[in-house]
Amino acid sequence: MANQRHLADNTNHPAAGHPGAPRKGLALLQGIAVCGRCGRRMSVHYTGPNGDYPGYVCRTDRDQTGAPSCQVVRALAVDAGVAQILLEALKPDQIAIALAALGQLDREAKQLERQWALRRERARYEAERARRQYDTVEPENRLVARSLERVWEEKLRVVERIEQDYDLWCREQPLVLGDDDRDALRALGQNLPQVWHASSTKAADRKRILRFVMREVILDQTKLKGHVWLKIVWHTGATSEHIVQRRVHTYNDYADRDQLRQRITQLNAAGTMDREVAQVLNQEGFTAACGCRFQGETVWQLRTRWGIAPAKINGIAANPPRWSDESFSVQGAAAALRVTTQTVLTYLADGLLTGRQLRKGQPWQIDLTDDQIRDLRARLQRTRRPKKEAS
Ligand SMILES: [Zn+2]
Repeated sequence: MANQRHLADNTNHPAAGHPGAPRKGLALLQGIAVCGRCGRRMSVHYTGPNGDYPGYVCRTDRDQTGAPSCQVVRALAVDAGVAQILLEALKPDQIAIALAALGQLDREAKQLERQWALRRERARYEAERARRQYDTVEPENRLVARSLERVWEEKLRVVERIEQDYDLWCREQPLVLGDDDRDALRALGQNLPQVWHASSTKAADRKRILRFVMREVILDQTKLKGHVWLKIVWHTGATSEHIVQRRVHTYNDYADRDQLRQRITQLNAAGTMDREVAQVLNQEGFTAACGCRFQGETVWQLRTRWGIAPAKINGIAANPPRWSDESFSVQGAAAALRVTTQTVLTYLADGLLTGRQLRKGQPWQIDLTDDQIRDLRARLQRTRRPKKEAS
């Protein structure tokens, strides 16, 4: 029964209020976020220059009355907080306790299920009996017929009410786990932090793991300034309340912060660009504050915050006239040709000079032979002379 409900949840009927199967995207609480102000389900929207920043939005008021959204909660901080709570809750010993609790709930549920079956059976039986009594009344005995009809209707209403209550009860029942599920959950508990942070783990997998244990997460950022209040409804039926800072504005609580900073500095000093730094960090098992993978932008943000200058082949020093491979810097070429650095850049753009950059943003390394220098100087003489004569 509960498993059927579990399946039904995956059929994606947003209109029916089912959370829907985890979909792509970053927002961890997609489908299970509930507005703490009005109790409605929140949807996900993305903002930011590249649409990178997910948020949970309660747009009911806006859609129906044109009023501003009820609330928009940025996802990054909330997701990080929820991920932390989840990992804490799914430590192996905690899983054992949860499974034991689920087992107990399971047994209680089975007992209650039997009681419900009896109640429902009895109500149906009484309605059926009332119908038969009504059927046996002679048509001319209208007074009796009318009163028996009322009794019958009443019994039918009782049946209806009990079925409604039963439905409600079913919906409130915790997730029933099969033995396979239990084993999977136990195995997961052994290495969840690694699985969670692994680069091979997709956003959809994280959502699935989360939805395995959390039924819904209620969000309210209007209760406490600068914070998001959240209430987690676990599948065990238990609830817990938490408070998360609204913005991921520091890595100060990041346990490996110093290590992270050191590594970024190191890679940057070695001329590694932000995007590659991000890749290396991911490979080495570092995790960004949101519990997700590093992107070039994240590295850029951290570098800016920590005052680490952009990677250059010569570090932070000024460009020398010539690089170690004998190629010229823009400044070196300008001096050799007796032109401005801007002219050198124009020559590079026009193809009069050939050079290369390690990557965009890196200093130019310009190939310039003595012959070329002579030719270019001669060319400059020619182009300059008419100007001088004209003036
Ligand atoms: Zn709302």
